[in-house]
Amino acid sequence: MGQLQERYKNYREPQKFMEAGVYPYFREITGKQGTEVEMGGHKVLMFGSNAYTGLTGDQRIIDAAKAALDQYGSGCAGSRFLNGTLDLHVKLEKEISAFVHKDDCLCLSTGFSVNQGVLAMVVGKNDYIICDDRDHASIVDGRRLSFARQLHYKHNDMADLERVLQNLPHEAVKLIVVDGVFSMEGDLAKLPEIVELKHKYNCSIMVDEAHGIGVFGDHGRGVCDYFGLTDEVDLIMGTFSKSLASIGGFIAGDKDTINFLRHNCRTYIFSASNTPAATAAALEALHILQKEPERIEALWKVTKYALKRFQEEGFEIGETESPIIPLYVRDVEKTFLVTALAFNAGVFINPVIPPACAPQDTLVRYALMATHTEEQVERSVEILKKIFVEQGIIK
Ligand code: PMP
Repeated sequence: MGQLQERYKNYREPQKFMEAGVYPYFREITGKQGTEVEMGGHKVLMFGSNAYTGLTGDQRIIDAAKAALDQYGSGCAGSRFLNGTLDLHVKLEKEISAFVHKDDCLCLSTGFSVNQGVLAMVVGKNDYIICDDRDHASIVDGRRLSFARQLHYKHNDMADLERVLQNLPHEAVKLIVVDGVFSMEGDLAKLPEIVELKHKYNCSIMVDEAHGIGVFGDHGRGVCDYFGLTDEVDLIMGTFSKSLASIGGFIAGDKDTINFLRHNCRTYIFSASNTPAATAAALEALHILQKEPERIEALWKVTKYALKRFQEEGFEIGETESPIIPLYVRDVEKTFLVTALAFNAGVFINPVIPPACAPQDTLVRYALMATHTEEQVERSVEILKKIFVEQGIIK
């Protein structure tokens, strides 16, 4: 037996849940990601997606991706730096920069690699990087890769952030990195207070708009726009994998910082560029988002309906202010059980357990799309209510 096999042969965590019949991961979808999907012949209502705008099956986007495949082929066979730049990539970068009201931007092949690559390079020795302790894993990994000194503060606790900042040298580069919308619990970063602290302690700010784009702000420009603080935020990152119905991500900011990253961000330079189809899909989704603000209105209408219904039925839903609704269970085993029971009854939701949340905060994550109907929400609330009551989670 090899060394690695010797080490991992006793890794049985997932098997425990498989044997209990509640393993929730890697379910295979056989079709498009709409509000109803088929998984292994079983039809479920999809409330576990990040496709907030409901655009993943949109024919216009599919057609744009097909046309790009025909024109440019299936891949770019190299990095943006060398042979992998298409006019399509440049067009997307120009349009994204204009959309988020920044000078310039870079588009990468995933949102994860944006955070990982940008944070690793944008701050270095003698600098400080300060994160909310619920920031996304890609921010944590980027932070770890940088040579900056790493600090964090309690989730959304501005007094704790100030405590951290107070002790740092005034002239040092200090980058505060925060999720605009927290991906598991749906609450927002306290951007106005963070901006005040930025001025008081001479810092910079980067906001992750993965769950803000397509949801908040004018035409879905994100939470920086929603708070009217785009100019105060130095760097904005976003992904194409959620509201923009594709795959990829971007980092946007002033022209000098982006120029530095264009020539130094390792996940941009040493990784192949995004596929023509994915790039064209993101571009078309961006056009639709700007042409059809009614999609965002529909998303908020159905979100408000769902929030009201979960509250009326006595669910504990925390501090959410977004289409991400956490339904707290506060017990790991029960979280898996609830997810499995919901799936069997026709509702797909995601279990959230440590390290994605604190051990006492386990929950199931219920997320809305613009294309969900109130009737679908109602059906899911009834099913979930029955399960939560039977399991003694709510009355
Ligand atoms: N940031 C946040 C807040 C996310 O939720 C995610 C994806 N779940 C990412 C970054 C990474 O984006 P992508 O999936 O496009 O790689």
